[in-house]
Amino acid sequence: MELIKAQRGTQDMLPSQAGKWQAVESVMRSEAEISGFREIRTPVFEDTRLFQRSVGETTDVVQKEMYTFEDKGGRSITLKPEGTAGAVRAYLEHGLFNEPMPVKVYYITPCYRYERAQAGRLREFHQFGVEMFGSALPVADAGLIAFAHSLFERLCVKNLTLKINSIGCPSCRKQYAEALKAYFTQNKDRLCETCLSRLDRNPMRILDCKSPECAEVAKDAPHILDYLCDDCRSHFEEVKDLLDSIGIEYEVDPTIVRGLDYYTRTVFEFVSNDLGAQSTVCGGGRYDGLVEEMGGAKTPALGFALGIERLLLVMEAQKVQFPEEEPCELYIASIGNAARKKAFQLVQRLRECAVEAACDEMDRSLNAQMKYAGKIGAKFTLVLGDDELASGKGVIKNMKTGEKKDIDLNDNFEEQFAAISSEAEDFGDLKF
Ligand code: ATP
Ligand code: MG
Repeated sequence: MELIKAQRGTQDMLPSQAGKWQAVESVMRSEAEISGFREIRTPVFEDTRLFQRSVGETTDVVQKEMYTFEDKGGRSITLKPEGTAGAVRAYLEHGLFNEPMPVKVYYITPCYRYERAQAGRLREFHQFGVEMFGSALPVADAGLIAFAHSLFERLCVKNLTLKINSIGCPSCRKQYAEALKAYFTQNKDRLCETCLSRLDRNPMRILDCKSPECAEVAKDAPHILDYLCDDCRSHFEEVKDLLDSIGIEYEVDPTIVRGLDYYTRTVFEFVSNDLGAQSTVCGGGRYDGLVEEMGGAKTPALGFALGIERLLLVMEAQKVQFPEEEPCELYIASIGNAARKKAFQLVQRLRECAVEAACDEMDRSLNAQMKYAGKIGAKFTLVLGDDELASGKGVIKNMKTGEKKDIDLNDNFEEQFAAISSEAEDFGDLKF
C-alpha cells in the first residue's frame, strides 16, 4: 500500500529532536517571565477578517499566503499566519486593558503560510512571540530589543546583526507614500503585477516585495528616515540612545519596512550571517494604531516574533551545544519470570520517586538486555536472578566506572539507590 507522507512544507518533530525544542522553549519561557511577560494561548484558527484587518489587505501574507477555507457552517476561517492578531483580539475580547499597564504577553505557537517551501521557509512553522500593550515610551522599544538580544545570548547564538529603522507614523508616512508613489510610477514597467496594484493603495509594501526585479527598483527608492516628523525622529533618537547606553550594537537600515501593515515607528530584525536567503530570525516593532483599528481604545503597543525552525538552523550551523537529555538511571535486567516481576516492582518504585528506570519488556536474553542497557545509555545496572531473589541482595554496577555496590532488594531500595547514584554524580560541561 502507498504510504501517505507529510504535507509539503510541514515537518515532524521526532523524538531525537525533542530535546532541542524543549531546551530552547524552556529558555524562551524563563527569559520571558524574567522580563515580566506572561503566557497567552489563542486558537489556531480565527475569522478571516481578523487577519485582513490587522495584517493588511495589501501584504504578501494576506494576498498570497493565507490558509483560508469555508467551514461547514459557511464561515470564512483562516489558520493563523502570525501571532499578533490573535493576541490583540484576545486582549480586547477579555478586557486585558483593565489590568495594570503595560500588559505583557508571550506565546509559542504554530503558524501557517502557503509559501514556496524551502530551507527555513515552511508552510507550518513555529513562532515565539511577545506583545506589550500600553507604553509609548522609547524605553519600551529599547527594552523589547534588549530582551530579544539577551534571549539570543542565553541561547549562545552568535553572529547576528540587529537592524533597526523607523517607519514613522501615519502623518509622516503620508508624505513619504507620495514620494514613493512618484518614484515607483517612474519605474512602473519594472514592477511585478502585485506591486502595480500596490502603487495606489500602499506603495510602501513594494519595498518588501520578494521579486528580484522589484527589489532592484526598491534599492534607489527614497528613504523614510528623510521624511520623519519631529516626534517620530526624536523617538527614534531616544531608542538608539538607550541601546547605546547598554552597549547593544545595531545597524540603522532604512530599507527595513517589515511584511505586515500594522507597524509604526520602530521596526527591527535580527539577521543571521550563517543562513542563506531565509536569514531573518526575528522581526518586530511598534504598532501604535493596531489596537484602535481592531475596535479598542487608542493604545500604543509593540512586539516581535522569532521563527523557531530558523533559530534551530542557526544554532545547528553554529554547532551550539544543547543540554544533553537525561539518560536512564537504572536498568534492571532479569533472568526468569519471578525475577522479571521483582524488576517490574522495583522499577515502579523508582519511577514514583521520579527516577528514570527500566526493565525488560521484550523477553530478551540477559546478554541482549545488557546490550540494550548500553544502547539507552543506562548509568547503572542491576541483574536479578534466582540467587538475588533468594538472598534479597543485589549488586548495582556503575556502567561508566565499573564500580560495584551492594544493595538490599527488600529494604529501602529507593533510598539506597539514591545514595549510590548521587555519590557518583558528575557535573559535565556547563551548557546554555
Ligand atoms: P520573511 O521575510 O522571511 O518572509 P516575514 O517578514 O514574512 O519573513 P514575519 O512575519 O515577521 O516574517 O515572522 C517573524 C519570523 O517568523 C521571521 O523572522 C521568521 O524567523 C519566521 N518565519 C516567517 N515565515 C516563515 C516561514 N514560512 N517558515 C519558517 N519561518 C518563518
Ligand atoms: Mg514572509
